[in-house]
Amino acid sequence: MPKKAVVLLSGGLDSTTLLYYALDRGFKAYCLIFDYGQRHKKEILKAKKIAQQTACAYHVAKISLPWQGSSLLDKSMRLPYHTSIDPKDIPSTYVPARNIIFLSFAASYAEVIGARGIFIGVNALDYSGYPDCRPEFITAYQQVLKKGLKTGVKGQWIKIYTPLIRKTKAQIIRMGLKRHVPYAMTWSCYQGERRPCGTCDSCLLRARGFEAVGQKDPGIK
Ligand SMILES: [Zn+2]
Repeated sequence: MPKKAVVLLSGGLDSTTLLYYALDRGFKAYCLIFDYGQRHKKEILKAKKIAQQTACAYHVAKISLPWQGSSLLDKSMRLPYHTSIDPKDIPSTYVPARNIIFLSFAASYAEVIGARGIFIGVNALDYSGYPDCRPEFITAYQQVLKKGLKTGVKGQWIKIYTPLIRKTKAQIIRMGLKRHVPYAMTWSCYQGERRPCGTCDSCLLRARGFEAVGQKDPGIK
């Protein structure tokens, strides 16, 4: 019996690479997709299609954060545009407690289905300003799963896997190309319009990644 794992899937480049990596490692993946009021709702559709493409079970958790507090949620706020990204900066796209919330849902899902792992595509290089993408947060949250879950106190704790945490975007893309990740199906742009805007932080990082591996981004038509 393959080991089960919950994979946090957003429909973006990183989490899709993560899903293919988890499958390659022999896990039976259960995708958890969040509808949390993100302005780029389009990624939810992409995530569902990617889960279907890989024949993985998936669940869309609809959660409400009416207090917002992020330019990713609040359409009256402008998304930041940078010509360069300062990795020490906490940009306005930071969503308060997002990964704490996501991992809590993943922990609940994982414990119910008997999964022994949770895969999350956090990255501490590109988003090192986000406190909930740093290795020390993951280490601390691992303790939460050990102390706060039935499986944890019984000694069968659920492990958090973060294979992308110290990788550059180019390294992530190489990981994915090796595993035939259908990058044309993925969505990265924060704007969520018909086409990627090409200027938001997420578009910039993606473009630089493909440039660094010398490949054309199949997601740009
Ligand atoms: Zn964009």
